[in-house]
Amino acid sequence: MSQKSSILSDYFGKLILKEVRGISFEVRAWANIIKDVIDSEYKKYSDYNFMGDFDNGEGFDQTMNQLTDKRELTVADLLAMNKDEIDNILAHIMDYHKLKYERVINLKPNEAVSLYNQIIDKDKINKESEKPITKSTQIIINGRDYPEAFAKFSVDKWVISDKQPTEYDHVKSGYQDNGEYVVFINCGLNSASLFVLIHEIKHAYQDWQRMSKGKPPIRQSKEMQQLYTKDFEKFLLSHQGGFHLKTLDSVIYAYYVSSDAEIAAYLEGAYDDLHGGSSYPQFAGKLRELGRNMANFKASQVDSDTPPKSLQKRWAKIIEDYNIPLFRKFKNVFDFLKYTERKFNKKGQYIVKKVDKLRTIQIPRPNL
Ligand SMILES: [Zn+2]
Repeated sequence: MSQKSSILSDYFGKLILKEVRGISFEVRAWANIIKDVIDSEYKKYSDYNFMGDFDNGEGFDQTMNQLTDKRELTVADLLAMNKDEIDNILAHIMDYHKLKYERVINLKPNEAVSLYNQIIDKDKINKESEKPITKSTQIIINGRDYPEAFAKFSVDKWVISDKQPTEYDHVKSGYQDNGEYVVFINCGLNSASLFVLIHEIKHAYQDWQRMSKGKPPIRQSKEMQQLYTKDFEKFLLSHQGGFHLKTLDSVIYAYYVSSDAEIAAYLEGAYDDLHGGSSYPQFAGKLRELGRNMANFKASQVDSDTPPKSLQKRWAKIIEDYNIPLFRKFKNVFDFLKYTERKFNKKGQYIVKKVDKLRTIQIPRPNL
C-alpha cells in the first residue's frame, strides 16, 4: 500500500463514514485507493517501457536488452563483439558472480557465455514477476488489504477491467459462489479519472448496500427491468443526447441521467465539483440545468430532428428496435411525452433542490 492511500484511508476512516444527504464518503475512500493503484500500475508500465529505451548508447544495457530479446548469448555473439562490449559483459559477470578480474579475463568464451546467460535468465525471471500491465487487462485489488475502507464498505475483491464502455457491471457484481463479494468495473485504465471512479463505485456501493442486507440486487429493481435494459444502454451509446430536451434523443438521455441509479451517482460528481475536487469542472451547473429543463419540460417542445421526420414514426421505430418495456407501454408518442412531462416536472424539481443542497454540506476535505 502506498503512502498516499494509507493517509487517505486513515483520513476517511476517521470521518463519520455515513452518507450525508446521499453523498457517500466510503465511495470516495475506495475511489482514491483504486485510483492510486491504477496510477501506480500504469506508472510501473511506463517506467518499464522507459527503462527499455533508456540506455541506448550505453553499451552494456543496450546489449543486455537486445540479448534478453534474443534469449541467450552465444559464443558467436561474443566473438562478434568489440572490446567495449566484451568489457561490459565481463564487468557484469564479475559483479553478478562475485568473481575477480584475473578470473574473468581468463574465462574461455563458452564459460563466459554460460555465466552471462545465468544473469539473463535471472533478469528474465525478475521481469516476468513484475510483468507490466498492458492494454485490455485487469487490475485486481484485494479489499482486505485496506482494512479501514473495507470495514465501511466490504468488498473482498475489486476487478477493474480496461474495457469500454465504462460501467459498473451490475450483472456480475455481488456475492460469488465462493462467498466473496466482488465488484466488476469496466473503464479505460489509462484515463480513469476520480469523477468516473466515484460514479461507478457509487453504483457498486448502492448495490452492496442492498445485497449485504439480503435485499435483491439492483439488477432486479423495477427501474432496471422497465427502463434500464441492455437495449436502453445500446440506444444511449449510439445516440447523441444533450440536456435541451427538444428531441426524443435528448428526452431519452434525460431518462438515463435522472434514473434513480444514475442520479445518485451523478450527484456525487456534482458534490465534488461544488467543493472544489472535481475532475469534471462545472458538472454541478450542468446537472442543475438539466433539472431546470426537466422541471419546465412541455410535451409540445419535442420535435424530430432525425429521420423519419414525423415524430410518431421516429417513436414507433425506437420502440420497435429497442426493448425498453417502459417506453413500449406507449404506442403513441404524445401519450409518452405527456407522461414524460408529469414525470420530468417532478423529477426536475427534485434534481434542482438536491444540487442546491449539496452546496451546504460541510465536510472537511483532506489536502491531496
Ligand atoms: Zn452510471
